Amino acid sequence: MDPTTGSTVRTAGLVRQFRTGSERLTAVDDVSLTIAPGSVVALTGPSGSGKSTLLHLIGAIERADQGTVTVDDVEVTALGRADLARYRQRVGFVFQRYHLLPALTVLDNVVAPMLPRRGRADHAARARELLDAVGLAGRERALPAQLSGGQQQRVAIARALMGAPRLLLADEPTGNLDSATGAQILDLLLDLRDRHGMTIVLATHERAVAARCDRLVRLGDGRVVEDEDLTGGEDPADTFDRASRLRL
Ligand code: ADP
Ligand code: MG
Repeated sequence: MDPTTGSTVRTAGLVRQFRTGSERLTAVDDVSLTIAPGSVVALTGPSGSGKSTLLHLIGAIERADQGTVTVDDVEVTALGRADLARYRQRVGFVFQRYHLLPALTVLDNVVAPMLPRRGRADHAARARELLDAVGLAGRERALPAQLSGGQQQRVAIARALMGAPRLLLADEPTGNLDSATGAQILDLLLDLRDRHGMTIVLATHERAVAARCDRLVRLGDGRVVEDEDLTGGEDPADTFDRASRLRL
């Protein structure tokens, strides 16, 4: 895989409202953020503060009511159907409950997002490499139910990497795991960022997880109420360059 520095993500005046009966709720309320390439950003805040909705807007699996999302030089909020589908294929998504298909083997779960496309043998070879990278070599033929929660999340991460994303969005990726297993999943995400230079935006309730990210963005009622740099002024892209140099 070519090392890259990951995507730059910009949101400007982003708003998403939901109507329930006669009520109108503003789930994401005027959020403007610039996320540096190769950084790992924690979205925190209480339940209902808009973390998932913001991730969905960045990943274009929900539409914005106002404002823009721009990823690298592409204004995602202005894309038409076909371009949107292509954009979504290039963003990795990881969920709290893994969302694996229970009847498919580990290998087939990882290959699944690529199935409408040609070249099944190539996809399977790549899936094996990714399963190796997430620490699951040898478990290709297992079914999800035969794996622990942490292992299932590793499968979900391998699946999210199939499209070689420069942007990975993770919604409470450690939320179903005990803290030691959650820490290992975060180790894996940070290691993948160092090796492949992705930008990662993850929603989390857990302080221990947020504290290890490069930046903490706290939401309250859909607004950014705190935005803290945790790198001590270090450019995440520098961390990446150093990491890749060390490996050469
Ligand atoms: P978080 O992930 O921080 O818990 P969410 O983004 O899921 O927050 O939700 C933000 C607010 O938007 C909540 O009040 C939630 O109830 C509401 N909401 C989210 N999705 C929908 C939806 N599809 N329909 C109606 N309300 C929604
Ligand atoms: Mg949520």
